[in-house]
This record gives sequence, C-alpha cells and structure tokens, in this order.
Amino acid sequence: QVVTRFAPSPTGFLHIGGARTALFNWLYARKHGGRFLLRIEDTDRERSTQAAIDAIIDGMRWLGLDWDGDIVYQSARAARHAEVAQELLAKGRAYRCYATAQELEEMREKAKAEKRPWRYDGRWRDRDPSDAPAGAPFVVRIKAPQEGETVIDDAVQGRVVFQNKDLDDFILLRSDGAPTYMLAVVVDDHDMGVTQIIRGDDHLTNAARQKHIYEALGWETPAFAHIPLIHGADGAKLSKRHGALGVDAYRAMGYLPAALRNYLLRLGWSQGDKEFFTLPEMIDAFDLTQVHRSPARFDFAKLENMNGHYLRDSNDDELFDLLVATLAYLEGGEAIAQALDDKKRAQLLAALPGLKARAKTLNELLDGAGFLFAQRPLALDAKAAQLLSPDARARLATLVEKLTALPEWTAATTEGAVRELSVALGVKLGDVAQPLRAALTGRATSPGIFDVLEILGRDESLARISDQAA
Ligand code: GLU
Repeated sequence: QVVTRFAPSPTGFLHIGGARTALFNWLYARKHGGRFLLRIEDTDRERSTQAAIDAIIDGMRWLGLDWDGDIVYQSARAARHAEVAQELLAKGRAYRCYATAQELEEMREKAKAEKRPWRYDGRWRDRDPSDAPAGAPFVVRIKAPQEGETVIDDAVQGRVVFQNKDLDDFILLRSDGAPTYMLAVVVDDHDMGVTQIIRGDDHLTNAARQKHIYEALGWETPAFAHIPLIHGADGAKLSKRHGALGVDAYRAMGYLPAALRNYLLRLGWSQGDKEFFTLPEMIDAFDLTQVHRSPARFDFAKLENMNGHYLRDSNDDELFDLLVATLAYLEGGEAIAQALDDKKRAQLLAALPGLKARAKTLNELLDGAGFLFAQRPLALDAKAAQLLSPDARARLATLVEKLTALPEWTAATTEGAVRELSVALGVKLGDVAQPLRAALTGRATSPGIFDVLEILGRDESLARISDQAA
C-alpha cells in the first residue's frame, strides 16, 4: 500500500511551497488508494511554536487536504530515535565522537583556508572510546561509507549519483541525547510505513545521507521524488514580495481553496495545456512523471485569474456559505458579518450572481457588495459624484415619479420604466441608468442596475434615488 506524508517543521506558518508539497503527497496517496500522513517535525523545541502548528493544521483543513490517522509529533518519539541510535552503535554502524568544539572549529578553519566545503574528518571513527576522558560529552555519528557512490533514483530528478567521499559521518544524536533531523526523519518514515517521499529538492542531498541510515539498519529505503522549489515571477528565489506567504494570507486575500489548490497543482506539474482540474480530475491525473524539473514561477496574476474563474463557476449557495464562513478573515468582513441579518443574507445571496461576475477575489466581491450594507445618504465615490450632474439629478426626480407609480417592483418592471423615461426625454439609456447606479450604489460600476433595484426593494431604492434627485 502506498503511504505518503507531509512533514512540516512548525517554525513558520504553512507557506505556499509547503502547501504544494502537501498537495502533491495528498494527491499521490489518494490516486493510489493509499494513506496520507501528517507529521509535525517539532524536534527543534526552541523554534517550534504552537501557533505555527495551529496554522499548519488550519491551512491543511482549509485546503481540503485531509490526513489519515492521528498527527504524529516527532518530539514525542525522541526515545525511539535514541533507541535506534543505540542499535546502530551496537551494530558498529555508528560511533561515539568526542571531538571538542575547539577541534571542530579548527577543522572548519582549515577547510576555509583550503577553500573546500567543511566536513567532519572522521577522527573518532575507528578510535577506541576509552581514549576519551571519563564523562566527556559525545555525539553519535553514522559510520558512512567512505568510498563508492550512493545513487538516488528519484522520480522527478532521475538518477542522482553522490560520491560517498563528499558525504561525511553526520550526527545522529547530539551530546544532550536529542536526535538530529536526519535520524528522526528516517526512523519516523520507517515506523510510519512511508513508501513514497515527496518533498522539496532542497532535501536531495539529505536523501543520500538518509539512505546510509536505512542501509545501516537493513531497512528498505522509500522511493523519493524531489520537487523543484518555487521561484518568483522574475525567476529569483521566492520571497514575501513574490507570494511566499502563509496559506492564511491567501485566505485573507479572498482566494478560494479550490482555486488555490488548482493553482498549486499547476505550479510545477502539468498535463498537456489543461489548466482547470476538478478534485476528482486532479486525483485521476496526478503523477510524478509530469512534475517539472525546473523551478516553477509563482504568478499572482495567474492565480487571480484562476480564482476569478472559480468564483464565476461556483454554485451560488455554496459560494454564499463559503463567503460567510470566511468573513472573519476578509477585509471589512467583520462588519458585514455583524450586519448580516435575514434580510441582508437574502439580499447578498440574490446579488451574488452579479457580484461574482465582476470579482476576482472574495475581497473584491465584498467590496462590490458594499452598497447592500451602505447607510443613507450614500457616500459617493468620485466617479459617482461626477455622474450626478444637475441635469442627471433632474432626470432622477422624474424617474422617482415613474417608479413610484409602478404597480409591481421587479427587475423587468423597473427596466421598463427606465427605458420609457429615456425615450420620453430623448436621451440614451445610460444617461438615466448611470446616474441611477450612482444614486443606488454610490459607484459607477455595480451588478446589473435593474437587479440592484429589485434586490434593494421599492422603499430603499426610492429613498436612495430621492436622496440624489433634484
Ligand atoms: N521537516 C522538513 C522540512 O520542513 C521536511 C523533512 C522531509 O520532508 O523529509 O523541511
């Protein structure tokens, strides 16, 4: 059975690269009817925070990436990691290293002077531990092969060959007995039955080191897929400015989880030039062979367009529920949540088709919905103020009379009245409709103005128009 995992370190929030790694692991497991596990790598107690753990879990839930079984906390498994280190010592595949801080510093200085990468020189590899002063602190190091090569057959990178002389006897247990990332990750992946590791290619060299641990223990090495990191639109390493933000920031900017998921899928993976994938389509189509080998470029404009597409395509009731559930995170959403009584809910739902057609994000959509919540007399933006010339205000006064006389108040009846008036006055439809829009919404753009009339209802509409009529 296929088992994948997402193993974030909770030293920061769930950023966009991590979310993509999680998505790929999730898709791979779902596609193969396997399991997708979540492990929080909180071994670095100083830098790990509960807030980061919460943000990771929250972000995964929001993106719909559900995991199987309980979350594994790496810190809770330290005793098991130490046990495996003892096993390696007993097997002669690891050794105690008593090199002092000063010795290590000298090694580092020497490497620097010789302009080569620093590597531990293996001075305790074959030395008798009884040479060390009694009670001296030590670390446990792997006894890595010194000759030959280590090959990683990576599903994305292909065959990657490491010369063993370039990999040193890295540390498994620190002097305080705490496991290193390198040991913990191997023990946990093994114990959790992970068969396929999918992660960022910044871990590619680690894969070779980790393979040494698997082999020393006689454990089967899982399959690897190292995916290229995400770069900014300009090709440089992803920074905040480029979109290296937490998933929560994307929620606050008003992106839909389905759209972000689709965008992340296409970020470094493709199938022909198909852009849009439903969830079942994604699961069906995803494979590792179509992951790109070069870094993906994060493109805000593309994400925005994709989000606009998802907004337009979404079912109104579902979109309404999502919007209400997201209000607390959105700009100005708090105030709207408070104002949302039954009447406003009905109005917002009725306005959604017109609003979603004009918005790329939920924030834009909420901004467009502002007229529903505005108080009389409406504040006018500059364009709306311009539309309300003295002539326009006079036309609105006549319009109020016409509309007041309507026996029935719908988009169709009000449209009839506006059209009749423009014909009677010998002006273009827009000469009545645009000032009308300004009066009703305080803006020069809005959903279809006859829909706005119907949604606001007779009394509120007539009051708003009268406010501006002269
Ligand atoms: N905790 C590591 C990280 O966040 C990931 C380790 C792994 O995937 O093997 O970079």
